[in-house]
Amino acid sequence: MTVLLLTHRACLDHDMGDEHPECPDRLRAVLRALEAEEFMMLHRDQAPRATREQLCLIHPESHVDAILAVRPEGDARVALDADTVMCAGSAEAALRAAGAGIAAVDAVCRGEVLRAFCAVRPPGHHAEPDAPMGFCLFSNAAIAARHAQVAHGLARVAVADFDVHHGNGTQAAFWDKPGLFLASSHQMPLYPGTGAAAERGRFNNIANGPLHPGANGAAFRAVWEDDLLPALAAFDPELLIISAGFDAHAADPLAQCRLREVDYTWITTELCHLAQAGSARGRVVSMLEGGYDLTALAASSAAHVRALMEA
Ligand SMILES: [Zn+2]
Repeated sequence: MTVLLLTHRACLDHDMGDEHPECPDRLRAVLRALEAEEFMMLHRDQAPRATREQLCLIHPESHVDAILAVRPEGDARVALDADTVMCAGSAEAALRAAGAGIAAVDAVCRGEVLRAFCAVRPPGHHAEPDAPMGFCLFSNAAIAARHAQVAHGLARVAVADFDVHHGNGTQAAFWDKPGLFLASSHQMPLYPGTGAAAERGRFNNIANGPLHPGANGAAFRAVWEDDLLPALAAFDPELLIISAGFDAHAADPLAQCRLREVDYTWITTELCHLAQAGSARGRVVSMLEGGYDLTALAASSAAHVRALMEA
C-alpha cells in the first residue's frame, strides 16, 4: 500500500524553549524512525503552507491574523498561555503543519494515494476555533476535515483521536456541524478537563471514551471496540482523519496510561479496516499530535505508519 508521508523542515524551527516537552527533537525522532529500510516505499513530499482562507475554515480571521502576526526576532519568544509559546519560526511551522493536512486530504481525495501520514508540529487538537491552547496554534485536523467538505464535496468526515489528552479544539470546531464527527479516547482526569462521555455534540456527532489513569491496552481496546468504533461505523464517514498522538504510551511522562506499540498497531489497523468497509473507501489521513517520550514516540509512530502500509 502506497502511503504518503508529508513533513517540512520548518516544523523543526518551532522551539518553545529548552525544557518544553513539545520540542523539535520529537519530530526528529519520528523522521529518523521512518528512515528505516522498511519505510523506503513511502511516497515523501513537502508540506505546503496552508492559506489564510483555509485556516479560516475553522478559525475566525482575528485568530488567524493574531497568530501570524507573532514573529519575534532572534531568540525571543512570546508566551500565548502557560503552555503555548511562539518563536521566530513558529508561524511558518504552524502554516506547514496545517498545510500538510490539507495536502494529504487533496492527495487521498484525488485518488493519488489511499492513506497519508503528516509528520508535523505544532500539533493541533487543543487549538480552539478562537484561541491557541495546549501546545497548539491551529486546529490542524479540524481544518483538514472542513477542507475535505469544502474543496472535495464530502458530506461526512470523521476524526478519530487517540491522543491521551482530549481533543477539545476539534470537539469545539465540530460541536454544531452534523457532517463532522469526532471519536476520542483520552485519560480523565487530565488536561484539558473536557471529554466526558456526556459531551455528545449538538447532533450526537461527538463520541468521547474517557480512560482511567493507569488504563492499559485492554482498557483502550475495550473503549474503542465497545463504543467508539461502532459510533464511527454508524456515522460512515467518506474520509477518516486520525489525530495520532502517542502520549498514552506507558513510557510517556505527561500521562498515566499504559499503552504499548502493539496497541497503536491494533487501533491503526482497526481504523483502516473501518475506512475500507464504509463510504471512505479506504481513505485515511493521519496527523501527528502528542507523544513526549522520544523513544516511545519513535517506536509508536513507526508502528502506526507500518500499520497504515500493511492494513
Ligand atoms: Zn496529548
